[in-house]
Amino acid sequence: MPGRLRELEITDFGATVLSTGEVSRVLIEWELKETRQDLTNMKYFIDRGESPEEMAVISSALPYNDLKQFVDYTIELRDLQKLYYYRVRAVEFNTAGNTALQTFQTTPFTWNGELDLVGIYVIDEHEFAFKFCYGTPTMIFKKKRDEENCPDCFDAVLARVTKSNCRTCFGVGKIGGYYNGIVAWMDFGQDMPASAVAESGEKQSNEISFRFTNYPEIRIGDIIVDLQPNKFFRVTNVSATEKRRATLLQFGQVSEIKRDEIEYALSIDDSVRDALVDELEQRRKEVEF
Ligand SMILES: [Zn+2]
Repeated sequence: MPGRLRELEITDFGATVLSTGEVSRVLIEWELKETRQDLTNMKYFIDRGESPEEMAVISSALPYNDLKQFVDYTIELRDLQKLYYYRVRAVEFNTAGNTALQTFQTTPFTWNGELDLVGIYVIDEHEFAFKFCYGTPTMIFKKKRDEENCPDCFDAVLARVTKSNCRTCFGVGKIGGYYNGIVAWMDFGQDMPASAVAESGEKQSNEISFRFTNYPEIRIGDIIVDLQPNKFFRVTNVSATEKRRATLLQFGQVSEIKRDEIEYALSIDDSVRDALVDELEQRRKEVEF
């Protein structure tokens, strides 16, 4: 059976080393050239290889409508002279989803330019501390900004949502409301420092601070779930330190979302949550000895 999609083009693809050592992460990003075709049966896959001639798939099937990003956690980058090549593939499946019909793919690519070793060192140190010393596991839900408007509650004339408890868009006005959650370890839940409180004039009793590394980039309106007590927070303020325009660290404030609000219906994979909470509890036990 031939595929139906025509001339899909993956653009703006690239790889960025986010951190190295025991917490190695490489971010793969891409875009799809705008198309009006129905992409429901299309999924992305990421391939990797030490040679552009020999690549193997390293991702599961990634949905067509999620963030066009993938983080490779599976290499340990110690020797930065070593290069890895990546490739993004868009595969069209049959309606049943069990047979690939055709593939559109990028050429192999790798991270480019000189790595900023000092910047990477700063990130590595923090990433290590958040994961192995004192951070907590969280899930970050990026708010959708340029997806399709919600068919159930978005009023195109008023250009706003008409109900706050909409299950289609979680009050965001875009289908799904938020992209799939991204796991992140951060230093989360410290109270705002007294100096910051003094500057902003009044202390909002539900504001909590966070410190975080470089991925994903957090914006106001995104949701952070502290997985161990399962508390949901909305980002109210965020800023970042940068070096040569690359984000090193992000810090900001969140305010807690009430338990009866619609955001608590966002789905978090129980097996992912359990594994992270186990990791946290294991670490706390080790610290006691
Ligand atoms: Zn809605």
